[in-house]
Amino acid sequence: MKKYHIGKSKIHGRGVILDRDVKKDEIIFRFTGKKVKNPPGPWHYGPHWLQVGYSEWIISKPGSPGRYLNHSCNPNSGIRGKNTIVAIKPFKKGTEVLIDYAMSETYPIWHMDCNCYSKNCRKVIKPYQDLSIQIKKRYAQYISKYIKDMKLHLSWGEYLNLKS
Ligand SMILES: [Zn+2]
Repeated sequence: MKKYHIGKSKIHGRGVILDRDVKKDEIIFRFTGKKVKNPPGPWHYGPHWLQVGYSEWIISKPGSPGRYLNHSCNPNSGIRGKNTIVAIKPFKKGTEVLIDYAMSETYPIWHMDCNCYSKNCRKVIKPYQDLSIQIKKRYAQYISKYIKDMKLHLSWGEYLNLKS
């Protein structure tokens, strides 16, 4: 059963709003659409896509929830596997579902102005590689599978230890 509706966002235009309470790690929806092999851009319009591989993106269909999934620098949701959106903490009916776009984006020149009203707003959001170590640790379970597979979640020191 659908757990959300598309409604007014406090952050940007319309958003994905929960119709009931969710538990930590509960699946909210799957981000589906057309797969493409090139970066979709232009970046500054705000993405309607999700990066799912080193050079692979899913472009959401108009009307699908992925289309309205907004970013927050203090997200309540994250990614499991390639394209499943899950709750990273329990949250209530009526709350907007928000991920951090850096949980999936690694394209080096990608960036977006942010005004998500959270205390820790980064103002300009950039790819995963540019997150602080603290944020990477906080997101560890909720980043895209391909980032884990590429070992981008490891610090350079951890990576070298793994190789030796
Ligand atoms: Zn922000």
